[in-house]
Amino acid sequence: MTVLNEMNNAALELECTVIRNAPLCEYTSFKIGGPTDLLIKPDTVKKAASLLNQCKLLDIPYFILGRGSNLVVSDAGFRGVVICTSELDSCEHKGDGVVECGVGVKLSSLCKFVCEEGLSGLEFAYGIPGSVGGAVYMNAGAYNGEMKDVLLECDHIDTSFNVGTFEKQQLELGYRNSVYKTNGYYITSARMQLSYGNKKIVEERMNRFMNSRKEKQPLDLPSAGSVFKRPEGNYAGALIEMCKLKGYSVGRAKVSEKHAGFIVNTGQATAEDVKKLIRFIQDTVFKKTGIALETEIEFL
Ligand SMILES: Cc1cc2nc3c(=O)[nH]c(=O)nc-3n(C[C@H](O)[C@H](O)[C@H](O)COP(=O)(O)OP(=O)(O)OC[C@H]3O[C@@H](n4cnc5c(N)ncnc54)[C@H](O)[C@@H]3O)c2cc1C
Repeated sequence: MTVLNEMNNAALELECTVIRNAPLCEYTSFKIGGPTDLLIKPDTVKKAASLLNQCKLLDIPYFILGRGSNLVVSDAGFRGVVICTSELDSCEHKGDGVVECGVGVKLSSLCKFVCEEGLSGLEFAYGIPGSVGGAVYMNAGAYNGEMKDVLLECDHIDTSFNVGTFEKQQLELGYRNSVYKTNGYYITSARMQLSYGNKKIVEERMNRFMNSRKEKQPLDLPSAGSVFKRPEGNYAGALIEMCKLKGYSVGRAKVSEKHAGFIVNTGQATAEDVKKLIRFIQDTVFKKTGIALETEIEFL
């Protein structure tokens, strides 16, 4: 029996959803990426820890996938196991504005949930198409808000497969950065402190931010959001536009005409198209402005 068969059986024994040769393009907002051998969706933390342990025992590489909205997956796909968080999707208001949720919860669902509870503080996140786990990992933010403003603590599975908790200061949250970007832990849940607000006002702010996204971002085409981090004192989109790269394309990957900070998939774009386009943008912007653009999106 191959190790992948062993892994498959272990996941089935744990009663997890398992998909063999899962096309990762279907699990990313960019709609790009080849298959992975196994895609597994644990619905409890215990099962997730057991799967991670099994990957180690069988020496199988694994990758943790949220909603795939910040990723460029290679055209060859991923040899190994993708452990998807989407079924860790509980969400609870514990009282006094403290909300606890599993990492698989979509940010937009969480925003709607807390709005219904009359809680304020997460309006900025409405419209970010990721999961809570991805948002903690990235310290996602928009409209002058970021996860750092609301996070109290996070639970995780560490690299020895023990569960643990980090308090806010241990999360080392910075601009699109957290401790989880370097430690390889599997974040399992997050607790946030929100404040009581007026439901109508919360809803209005959420809708205002969403309308602003619709107006400024190319939401009609697949993408992974802003490709580059904001350079100090500047905006990546403005620099790219200044270099006359709006609309420039490599294969079917194109610098959005609507927002130059986005690369869009105009149909069947490959990861190679995206990578070549990114390098071209970085080279051009550097030559013309001396500014080195760093990618915000991640590559698998
Ligand atoms: C149209 C559009 C608009 C966007 N707007 C914004 C915006 O305004 N602000 C912003 O910050 N981002 C934005 N993004 C980017 C993206 O939505 C965020 O970065 C989001 O937080 C990623 O979450 P995800 O679940 O999709 O993560 P994924 O893309 O699945 O994963 C991203 C990284 O996080 C890791 N990860 C995910 N879950 C876990 C976990 N549970 N434990 C450990 N590691 C984990 C993955 O391994 C990977 O390295 C946008 C994207 C799109 C497509």
